[in-house]
Amino acid sequence: TMSTTDLRALIRDVPDFPKPGVGFRDITPVLASPEGFHAAVSGLTELSREYRPDHVIAAEARGFLFGPAVAAELGAGFVLARKPGKLPRETVSVEYSLEYGVDRLEVHTEAIGPGARVLVHDDLLATGGTARALCELVEAAGGEVVACAFLLELAFLDGRERLAGRPVHALLRDD
Ligand code: 5GP
Repeated sequence: TMSTTDLRALIRDVPDFPKPGVGFRDITPVLASPEGFHAAVSGLTELSREYRPDHVIAAEARGFLFGPAVAAELGAGFVLARKPGKLPRETVSVEYSLEYGVDRLEVHTEAIGPGARVLVHDDLLATGGTARALCELVEAAGGEVVACAFLLELAFLDGRERLAGRPVHALLRDD
């Protein structure tokens, strides 16, 4: 399987996207590469397996790229966290702050049973706001966050501090 150096090389750093001064990590070449996609899914699976999750939860849109594949490899279910108004049945929701303003994520109440072991996933950990909101959703629905697993952590933003108390793992890290 592919080395983490080769996997990192598939992620392209795009300066000034989506606006001046921001450095964006474009993960789409990882998905487009047969070897890269396999390495990402199997790497995320292996660092998550010991937590024996019942479900993987991730937020639209980029959380939906690797999350379902990792869940299938783990023998877990996949739970969708979506923007307001997309899920048709009863939901629980949490508000979280963005750089400018606030946003909201929702999950079907029924999707996470009492005491369910849930792995939080996203493609990238930046400030930790999104992953923290996912943790709060799981806990509001009665589940337990057993760990958080990311493809890439931007360690210089200290996002893991916002996930305090939960095990945090990333396949790749930018310091
Ligand atoms: P946070 O909430 O940790 O600040 O930001 C992480 C969320 O924003 C993730 O859902 C991720 O998809 C998205 N995100 C923020 N910056 C980037 C980036 O540079 N590249 C990618 N692929 N996603 C990003």
